[in-house]
Amino acid sequence: MPSSIIRGLAVFTEPVDRRNWQHIDDGAVVQRDGVIAEIGPFAELSARHPDVPVIGTGRQVVLPGFVNGHHHIGLTPVQLGSPDMPLELWFVTRLVSRRVDLYLDTLYSAFEMIASGITTVQHLHGWLPGGLAEVEAGAGEVIRAYQDIGMRVSYSFALRDQNRLVYQDDKQFTESLPVELRPALERHFARFQVSPGDYGALFEHLYGKHQNEERVKIQLAPANLHWCSDAALTMLAEYSERYDAPMHIHLVETPYQKEYARRRGGGTALDYIDRFGFLGPRLTLGHGVWLNEADLDRIAATGTHICHNCSSNFRLRSGLAPLNFFEKRGINVAIGLDEAGINDDRDMLQEMRMVLRAHRVPGMDEDDVPSVGQVLRMATVGGAMTTPFGSRIGSLAIGKAADLVLVDWDKVAYPYLDPETSVLDAVVQRGRTNAVALVMVAGEVVYQDGRFTRIDRDAALRELHQLLQQPLAADEVERRQLSRALLPQVRRFYAGYFDSDTHQPYYRGSSRQ
Ligand SMILES: [Zn+2]
Repeated sequence: MPSSIIRGLAVFTEPVDRRNWQHIDDGAVVQRDGVIAEIGPFAELSARHPDVPVIGTGRQVVLPGFVNGHHHIGLTPVQLGSPDMPLELWFVTRLVSRRVDLYLDTLYSAFEMIASGITTVQHLHGWLPGGLAEVEAGAGEVIRAYQDIGMRVSYSFALRDQNRLVYQDDKQFTESLPVELRPALERHFARFQVSPGDYGALFEHLYGKHQNEERVKIQLAPANLHWCSDAALTMLAEYSERYDAPMHIHLVETPYQKEYARRRGGGTALDYIDRFGFLGPRLTLGHGVWLNEADLDRIAATGTHICHNCSSNFRLRSGLAPLNFFEKRGINVAIGLDEAGINDDRDMLQEMRMVLRAHRVPGMDEDDVPSVGQVLRMATVGGAMTTPFGSRIGSLAIGKAADLVLVDWDKVAYPYLDPETSVLDAVVQRGRTNAVALVMVAGEVVYQDGRFTRIDRDAALRELHQLLQQPLAADEVERRQLSRALLPQVRRFYAGYFDSDTHQPYYRGSSRQ
């Protein structure tokens, strides 16, 4: 990779505290072979390296590339026929999803992510039918798409070995259904054949193949507590330790999951995974909406991370994560777009504003609510710490990866902006995707002026569109009908889920515990 000087009207390098970032006005970054070699005033660096090409007009703000801390798919559930619903019912509607070409699907969301300044994605690959060979081939297609477009990816395949439709054993739930629904559901469950043993082999193959790559890393993903047996949790903890591989687990996304954990272990979901040695800097909890105060203390004490999926929590009626309490305890928090943000796309600039606004509780103390500097930290350094790339990405410093985004200042500040407004405030509060002028990953420009440098977006989308013109296959039609028929059954299953007053969630009239 040749060297370049990246120039900015302001270069934001790393957070100083929860409100402020270190920055250099009229600054520049020199990268060599994808690694940051120097940072300083542009005039100085350009005089020192007169032959090194300059990237950036000087009318742009340079930020570290954003990290999407929690991502699953390309085409969104809405695009695939699942409307927003409470999470547990939404799982049932997801049965309508048709087969989509994984390579093109991954490119689809990568286009959106990169165009909003995201340089690294935590890809948590969910449902993939078949046995080890099919899943490994599918994982390969997803990773290949990121490699081709030039994005940095932390890839994991989510392990689920139980309770695949509701928070109950698959067989038990199937047997509780009207007889005519059972065969189709059994056929659906039978599609997923990866055992915990296969999962170990999958991880080892992928890890072995990619461990020395600059832009691809492999980690582990216990899908959620209810989806993992004790044997699976034991195995995952062991793999995480042996390979020093981070793990990302969905946890207490909804009050139903909190109640599930109480029924399974008598305590909280966090207590439960703690028994398996999960907690620590290698673990990230996705969502964490229903953690309690003692859980938060334990998370802070162990250095466990949380990924805040704000839009997703709103859309699926999961609740509002206690972000301000996370922050007070100094817990590291990432931002995840999950399936999609509030506009049904993957736009990190918008999600930062969502996080900034959603937690503005009444009061006058500025320390009680998120700040601009904090949400930018969450979207960069915070996310980085939840991936195997760790502190190599997320901020701009000598020796770190040259992953950065250039935001066009005139798009933010034209036709007028009070000169006393801080540049960081203006960029985070007013920056839209149309202001993202250039995105660099590992020293390579992957996106500039609305065009991807390596992949023809129009051609890829055309191909995706064309492939999806074919009619649904017989099994897809069957699952569509099954999904409709199961919805009232699943509603019935959860209707009596909170069986005693003591464990009612607070919004139903009792206090939060
Ligand atoms: Zn998720």
